Amino acid sequence: MFLVLRQKIALPLQKLIAATQQITSGRFDVQLETKRKDELGQLARAFTYMAQKLQESFATLEQRVEERTAELAVAKEKADRANQSKSEFLANMSHELRTPLNGILGYAQILQRSQDLNQQQQGLDVIQQCGNHLLTLINDILDLSKIEANKMELIPKEFHFLAFLTGVAEIFQLKAQQKGLGFQYQLKTQLPEAIYTDEKRLRQVLINLLGNAVKYTQRGRVTFNISVIAHLSPQENGIPAVKVRFSVEDTGIGMTPEQIERIFQPFEQVGDAPRIAEGTGLGLSIAQNIVTLMGSQIQVESTPNQGSRFWFDVELPLATDWVRSTIARHDRVRGYEGATRKILVIDDKWENRAVLLNILEPLGFEILEATNGAEGLVKTVSEAPDLIVTDLVMPELDGFEMMRRLRQMPQFKTLPIIVSSASVFELDQHRSLDMGGNEFLPKPVQVEELLDKLQLLLQLDWIYSETPREATALTVASEEETDEMELVPLPLSELEVFLDLARRGSLRKLQKQVAALAERDPQYAPFAGRIRQLVKEFQEREVLTHIPHFKCSV
Ligand code: ADP
Repeated sequence: MFLVLRQKIALPLQKLIAATQQITSGRFDVQLETKRKDELGQLARAFTYMAQKLQESFATLEQRVEERTAELAVAKEKADRANQSKSEFLANMSHELRTPLNGILGYAQILQRSQDLNQQQQGLDVIQQCGNHLLTLINDILDLSKIEANKMELIPKEFHFLAFLTGVAEIFQLKAQQKGLGFQYQLKTQLPEAIYTDEKRLRQVLINLLGNAVKYTQRGRVTFNISVIAHLSPQENGIPAVKVRFSVEDTGIGMTPEQIERIFQPFEQVGDAPRIAEGTGLGLSIAQNIVTLMGSQIQVESTPNQGSRFWFDVELPLATDWVRSTIARHDRVRGYEGATRKILVIDDKWENRAVLLNILEPLGFEILEATNGAEGLVKTVSEAPDLIVTDLVMPELDGFEMMRRLRQMPQFKTLPIIVSSASVFELDQHRSLDMGGNEFLPKPVQVEELLDKLQLLLQLDWIYSETPREATALTVASEEETDEMELVPLPLSELEVFLDLARRGSLRKLQKQVAALAERDPQYAPFAGRIRQLVKEFQEREVLTHIPHFKCSV
């Protein structure tokens, strides 16, 4: 652009300079009046000066533009390269990590659902936690790139508030216990039964805050506090809402005011080396972004060596037509009503097929397997399954092409297809739905999500087991009880024995067994103390009513 401009100006400028030089050299017309000549001379000098300046400016400008363009070209090339390697890295890492994770998490879930595992339960929990931790890391990095591209959005849905909170608290109850920390889960006010917001993102924020609290505390306790601070009248949409304060407090290492200023920046970690080694510095920056999308902000107050408190207030619309039955947890699903349904699983990796087979066969599904799209097509025609779960990237014939061909056959136009892939690219997800998939199920497969999709596509009525394994997983300090109740997990096997002894009135024996438990594990000492006291007072009825409050997961 400057080049063109310069060319256009250069010719008239040269003419102008030549003309003014003629005037000032006096060769123009000797007859001219002296006054006029002076005026012209002054004008000409001004023109010459201006022309020279203009030329100089053009020259400098041009040089600067050239320099800048060269700099920009280098920077752009660098950015392009960085961007490309970032995308490649993300795609590879995500795919590479998700595939083995599918095996780890899938099997952990299968084993956890089996009824006769007590000893291995803790080990399985660890497998699942580690796997989930890895998955969180991958998702964090993906989230950050979404935030950078301004693509993070909330997907609200209705869900049961207390079950949600208890689920989050459960995770940290265990983590705190493993570290020898106290964990208090306090519900200070009556909570709405169901709310409407992005459950996954809210959980992500809470997990980050609670995770940090446990991570950066060596002694003392972590307190998770939830309270309704305002009831909001219905907005324009006619839906009432509540303002809820979520607060996470710890007695950990704390931060200085200068450190607090930096912690919400991506990749920012503060403090000394051991603290830095423990994370990626992404969590809080993502959490703050999510809370901002929810119309609020995470606040912090902290004192070095004393502890920190993170909190935020969000307006949560109430879920008015929420159906109570949706609380039925899928981990209690033991089968379904009606005829046996046939499911064809198409995946080139045996471990992925094995995960689905092991989840679905015990529920009464008949599972057929195929290792690529071509085999999948043949089996669909010969076996007429009720539903297909297919991978995308496979040798010979991939999932996209297999679905496209299937949808061209009139008898399979409406056959339900779940696309299950480790690809995190929304493009792949959309493309797979465009090609004829009905639902997208990300890998690693989460049992809850899989069962949700099967229920939807096959119109299933689940059969639930009688004894919910986790239904009363945690004791919640409700308003009627003390509002500062420590959560103490009690193994289900012990719990049953205790209840049985209490029911039969064998109070001395009960006291002995509880004392033995407290000796093996001091965290049950308060429970043992309370039982001892009750037994002493022969309060049989009290004993009976007291035990269930300490009930916890297996
Ligand atoms: P990460 O924990 O993975 O390093 P975060 O973004 O979650 O990343 O946190 C950023 C930094 O803020 C942490 O590295 C830590 O120094 C500091 N921090 C966060 N929460 C706490 C806390 N509860 N107590 C002390 N320091 C904290």
